[in-house]
Amino acid sequence: MKFETRSIHKGNHITDTNRPVVQPITLSTTFEHENEAGMLYTRAGNPNRLALEELVASLEGGKVAAAFSSGNAAGTAVFQALEPGSHIIAPDDMYHGLHNSMSILFKGIHEVSFVNMADPEEVKKAIRPNTRLFWIETPSNPLLKISDVRKIAEIAKNQKAILACDNTFATPVFQNPLALGADIVMHSSTKYFGGHSDILGGILVGKEDNEFWAKIRTVQRVGGAVPAAADCYWLSRSIRTLAYRMRGHAQNAMVLAEYFLNHPKVEKVHYPGLKNHPGHEVAAGQMTGFGGVVSFEVKGGADAADRLIKDLHLFVNATSLGGVESIIERRAAVEGPDTLTPPNLIRVSVGLEHSDDLLEDLDLAFSKI
Ligand SMILES: *Cc1c(COP(=O)(O)O)cnc(C)c1O
Repeated sequence: MKFETRSIHKGNHITDTNRPVVQPITLSTTFEHENEAGMLYTRAGNPNRLALEELVASLEGGKVAAAFSSGNAAGTAVFQALEPGSHIIAPDDMYHGLHNSMSILFKGIHEVSFVNMADPEEVKKAIRPNTRLFWIETPSNPLLKISDVRKIAEIAKNQKAILACDNTFATPVFQNPLALGADIVMHSSTKYFGGHSDILGGILVGKEDNEFWAKIRTVQRVGGAVPAAADCYWLSRSIRTLAYRMRGHAQNAMVLAEYFLNHPKVEKVHYPGLKNHPGHEVAAGQMTGFGGVVSFEVKGGADAADRLIKDLHLFVNATSLGGVESIIERRAAVEGPDTLTPPNLIRVSVGLEHSDDLLEDLDLAFSKI
């Protein structure tokens, strides 16, 4: 079945004799012993979480999936599943929440090297005998840097290490890292999967149900950072329209990227769909669309960027991305002093409004700075 069809029909198990069209929410935290589905207790599994995991595993082309209460919990589960003393190679512009997880929670437990993952030679140079995990995020947040998944997968295979890919920005609509050689895919389902800025969640997908995956399952069950049944329901329900939303996001993002490219008050645009983006060729070879996030640098520094944000009305100034509404943020302001993000960079999560209205709002705000 094609992606759109799987999005709608996978993970929808009707056992109710009333024959509802959608699987109901099972709120019960516990299940009578010896039930046919083998359910025990909701932290170990519940019908809505299993349905969500089946759905996302199918969309990413994986064998197994494990849902968590946030994207950070999902990413952290991978680090927890590693043997202590492992060395991790991760992006120098890694999503700052997971950068914090590695450098704060795993300090003294694992070793980490933060390198430019867009350069495979730099990645090779960082390898140590105990390198067990390569972590990539492509496109990256918020610089939209592109890592070559196939090349990094080859490097990881030679090292007998795991390659995990944060696929939050691309979504399986545009990129399937498992098919490109990755072993694990991670999503913040808070973003495009949820798509309406109202659910927090994360999910991991495994290519194989192997020994490492068994450890991830243990982290999920014993660590207990699991999503509620109702959240799993809402996520599955939102994912039904993911393919159509992503096409709209990407179409609008391209319109805005070209607008910024031609704007005299813009210094630089970061969008992998633009031919002048340094990762464009690699992106075109591994993605079928370029996603819905565009970053741009405003002339006049952080002050000019802040003024522009204040004068925008349709774009909400907030953290997060992937919702139907356009969201804008000056990232350096929230990422803290050690960030590599330029101070005048504004990240735009391009929503599903009509692009004419977005451009009109931008025109007016730019005219005031
Ligand atoms: C938001 C985000 C995360 C973290 O997910 P939460 O659901 O906020 O915990 C991880 N990676 C990327 C790329 C993100 O954008």
